[in-house]
Amino acid sequence: MSGASVKVAVRVRPFNSREMGKDSKCIIQMQGKTTTILNPKAPKEPAKTFSFDYSYWSHTTPEDTSFASQNLVYNDIGKEMLAHAFEGYNVCIFAYGQTGSGKSYTMMGRQEEGQEGIIPMVCALELIILFCVCCPHSIIPVRLTSIILETRFPLIGVKPSDDNNQDHELSINITKVIKQQPYVRPDRTVAATNMNETSSRSHAVFTIVFTQKKHDSETDLSTEKVSKISLVDLAGSERADSTGATGTRLKEGANINKSLTTLGKVISALAESKKKKKTDFIPYRDSVLTWLLRENLGGNSRTAMVAALSPADINYDETLSTLRYADRAKSIKCNAVINEDPNN
Ligand code: ADP
Ligand code: MG
Repeated sequence: MSGASVKVAVRVRPFNSREMGKDSKCIIQMQGKTTTILNPKAPKEPAKTFSFDYSYWSHTTPEDTSFASQNLVYNDIGKEMLAHAFEGYNVCIFAYGQTGSGKSYTMMGRQEEGQEGIIPMVCALELIILFCVCCPHSIIPVRLTSIILETRFPLIGVKPSDDNNQDHELSINITKVIKQQPYVRPDRTVAATNMNETSSRSHAVFTIVFTQKKHDSETDLSTEKVSKISLVDLAGSERADSTGATGTRLKEGANINKSLTTLGKVISALAESKKKKKTDFIPYRDSVLTWLLRENLGGNSRTAMVAALSPADINYDETLSTLRYADRAKSIKCNAVINEDPNN
């Protein structure tokens, strides 16, 4: 598993009402893993083509055979990453893209059935999210854990242990939910239903820590596997100048831009040091976001990125920059190792 690349997916959403109102043209096309973008300002220019692990066509409706539903995204990415977490790897899924491109829809989704995003699907029970909000640092009690397990295993299709002779106890310890919001702090007043209304100006990082304890009765040895699952809904990637922000908002925007610029630099530095086969200085410390994600980017982790795209011609510049960002992310290698410690 070591040296695995960051899994990169892109996803294009339906037109929103603003785009419809402007009679927008769809400039994105997808075929298999390939995504192409047309420059509306130079229609004669050949389309730019990119290839990713997944190109999700969510521009149309479920009746369309090529339509990518929330379930498909979860089945491809959520399940794979969860399976890695159960194997004992750290995992991270993050969504990138301009405001309104569909990051929160992919990560949180909507309340309606079949519209849930990766986070509630991974958590299986909204209770976990409630716990995250109400009692960060709490350890979920064993009884609740078993309920979660019963709900979860049919969902993700992995068993806690291949070896039925071993006593297997799994505890899920949710250590913290960090919502990096400059002015809204997660506290008891934040209801679970509001969790998907993530501000476009903040990064939301959900961290779940799994501890799997195994006891082998023959050898009387216990092992513990710990894996950290980070689910990240990033702030909008648009440049401050395109949002018309002023004052405090501009300052917040500047901080977020710094985080995303640093994320870009970290991604470039990692891709570069891989090419040159030597360890360069990676500027993780330059922003809170990259510091939080340091283990997930080039560190000890399996990482997936979903880049959310607007289909509309009016967003060409931002969408192209998102595609380029996603393209760079493909070359990052993460050295994932299982976090397993024998302890007697
Ligand atoms: P972001 O978090 O990137 O700012 P959102 O996820 O909030 O953007 O998406 C903006 C709007 O578009 C929301 O109303 C959302 O429900 C809708 N939307 C985004 N992606 C999809 C999709 N794949 N299918 C249907 N609606 C979507
Ligand atoms: Mg959002």
